[in-house]
Amino acid sequence: MSANTFPAHIEPFKWAEQGFTWSGTLPLSRFARIARETVGSVEHQPVQINCKLSMDAYLRLVWLDADIEAKAPMTCQRCLEVVEIDLVSNVHLALVEDESLIERLDEDADFVVLGESESSSKGSFDEPAIVDLLTLLEDELLLLMPLSPKHHACEHKHRPTEQDIVEEKRDNPFDVLASLKGKLNS
Ligand SMILES: [Zn+2]
Repeated sequence: MSANTFPAHIEPFKWAEQGFTWSGTLPLSRFARIARETVGSVEHQPVQINCKLSMDAYLRLVWLDADIEAKAPMTCQRCLEVVEIDLVSNVHLALVEDESLIERLDEDADFVVLGESESSSKGSFDEPAIVDLLTLLEDELLLLMPLSPKHHACEHKHRPTEQDIVEEKRDNPFDVLASLKGKLNS
């Protein structure tokens, strides 16, 4: 295993004690759920990752800190050309073994209870908790994926999609009412 191989699975408590850090890039294609939403080949689309684990002995939990940066090519819902969506995430996530420990965290702290999501399994007496680091980081990036990706300003000819039209109606409920009224009167 090369020194820079991204670890698929980590044991958060053990690795935090060992001062685990990882810096490098992975192809966006490794993030299957994100890749599914993109257009074109993402084999060579880099995802930059800097991450580390640290032990919080007082709170009895592990902090995962990660800076992630990627660009996801998606289809602009306005002009239907490719738009590169910036995915930049600064993760500060508490990995806790037991829900009862959440109370000790600040109200606005992000946390994952090990074993309660697909990205982790809970430890038991003789088995350590395991985290699928890639899935965990992908969960964070997925939160940044826009439902309706668009250029800030489309360079290409405006071709309204059905979604645009629905949104315009939603934006101007009175215009719609006014036009209905006009029709009734005519
Ligand atoms: Zn566009």
